[in-house]
Amino acid sequence: MFELNDRFKDISPYVPNEKNFDIYLDANESFLDLPDIMKSEIEKAFASVKLNRYPDPVAMDTVEAFSRYYGVPAENVVAGNGSDELISLLFSAFMDKGDTFATISPDFSMYEIYGKNFDMDYLSIPKNSDFTIDTDRVIEQCNSKKVRMLIFSNPCNPTSLGIKREAVLKVVKSTNALVVVDEAYMDFWNQSIIDSFNDFDNMIILRTASKAFGLAGIRLGFAVSNSRIINAMKMVKSPYNVNSITQLIGKISLSHKNLTEKAIKAIIDSKNALYTELLKLSESTKEFEVLESDTNFVVIRLNEAVKLYEYLIENRIAVRYTSGIIRVTAGTGSENEKFLSVCKEFFNKER
Ligand SMILES: *Cc1c(COP(=O)(O)O)cnc(C)c1O
Repeated sequence: MFELNDRFKDISPYVPNEKNFDIYLDANESFLDLPDIMKSEIEKAFASVKLNRYPDPVAMDTVEAFSRYYGVPAENVVAGNGSDELISLLFSAFMDKGDTFATISPDFSMYEIYGKNFDMDYLSIPKNSDFTIDTDRVIEQCNSKKVRMLIFSNPCNPTSLGIKREAVLKVVKSTNALVVVDEAYMDFWNQSIIDSFNDFDNMIILRTASKAFGLAGIRLGFAVSNSRIINAMKMVKSPYNVNSITQLIGKISLSHKNLTEKAIKAIIDSKNALYTELLKLSESTKEFEVLESDTNFVVIRLNEAVKLYEYLIENRIAVRYTSGIIRVTAGTGSENEKFLSVCKEFFNKER
């Protein structure tokens, strides 16, 4: 009989919503379809993909498009099957059994799961009670607990809060740990450290096509770092980790910066509208708190989070509940409206 390894037994798995909902505001995807110009370019290029051949092992065209988009040399970039794969690769490339890895909790739940995969010791450094990060405490904990790898998202999923680039760089400078800065949502904010990719021995930046680029379905992520680290990651990855179709779509999408920037602006507008409406509702009901958001989602904090979550589910609206908060991805205007009206109903009804 095969059973799950003991090291996973205390872990709560990441459970994506499976039921059928009318509205999905639960996974921080983009609500926008790809622009028609990109779609027709993809359709045309598709005919020339050699499906009988293995893909380019280093996804060179895609990595070069990334490199032009963000202004970093292609040799400092590795592509992955989603940044999820790259997170997993980081553990296998740089950590040994018994090494300690740390997160700043609450943060993206997959970090812990991948770390446990590799039999590492896990240190959870708590955020402040308002979900801000005390970087001095993070530095002190990394140094006193001999942390080998610190990983966190900036801006953070699930809290929607970001920390400024100076604060991030200070953490990198002040610890010997390998600091992995997951910038999955940084396309929605302006505090990226990507231009410092080559300034440190111990820093890796992760990016993804899943959020701002609206390409969660193709699974494409990137790591950016000094060439020593990038070469090590290339050595441990499986040779054909990014499939040909993903490489093609990623390349085309990354080559249309103006269109992507337009999409990002529309997503931020939707997020701001959702934030403003939630803030109004919060002020009139006094039932919950709305967090500032540097991402494409808004977080509300309330004692009755589970009840509200269940009420939304009953109304066929999927959001994410975690750590006493509800995380709502910005959707289309009508999706946001439906969500808000169900929230209003919830706070108005007898409970
Ligand atoms: C969505 C998300 C990712 C993206 O993962 P992919 O595998 O590239 O889709 C990575 N990190 C965080 C914190 C995220 O929220």
